[in-house]
Amino acid sequence: MASLKNLTIEQLTASLEAAQTEQSRLATRVKEQDRRILTLITLKARTESDARSKAQEAQELSARLFLKQCLPAEVVQLRERIFNLLAQVASDQITVAEQRRLSEELKTTRKSLQLDVCNHRLVVYEEAYSGSRSNDYDDASKEVRVCVVCGLEECQWKAEEFKVLQDTPHRLIRRYYDFYEFGSRLGFTGVRDRLLKLRDLDALLDLMAGLVKLTD
Ligand SMILES: [Zn+2]
Repeated sequence: MASLKNLTIEQLTASLEAAQTEQSRLATRVKEQDRRILTLITLKARTESDARSKAQEAQELSARLFLKQCLPAEVVQLRERIFNLLAQVASDQITVAEQRRLSEELKTTRKSLQLDVCNHRLVVYEEAYSGSRSNDYDDASKEVRVCVVCGLEECQWKAEEFKVLQDTPHRLIRRYYDFYEFGSRLGFTGVRDRLLKLRDLDALLDLMAGLVKLTD
């Protein structure tokens, strides 16, 4: 600023005017940039929200795709047949002979689904329990796995020992955890029965997705 000392009044006035003009120009530019920042922030928020809903859509689509891939039409048809037979057997409008015939057909259809058709892609399990010392380990129990599509059940001490319901990349294996329904606790058998009774496959997959992952 030392050089300012030597400036004349005219020079100082001119410099002041120039500085004020430049300052006002820059202030206008700052305002303009602020506006642009605000527009960008709004745009960014919109894009982020779009990305979130796309991610949700992708998740939903991949869940449905998994359902279609993991449950071939033959499995779905046999499963539907079983639900229809169950409803018919429970009817009080049929004769004892008819009921016996339907029960037999139900047994055969279920066996065919479990042993020949189902690929057991949706499995729920309860871990093995080593037992308590106070009970001399008599209360120990094996790990139980159940395919919630066909009802096939397998028990083993270790996960590696499973013959049919073993871990594979295309099998959704979920650990059961306590469910509360109408205030009462559903244990493993309660959860298993609840899943097996679900006719709607979308609802079944939704419930399975809510259970704890084996690999968590
Ligand atoms: Zn199965």
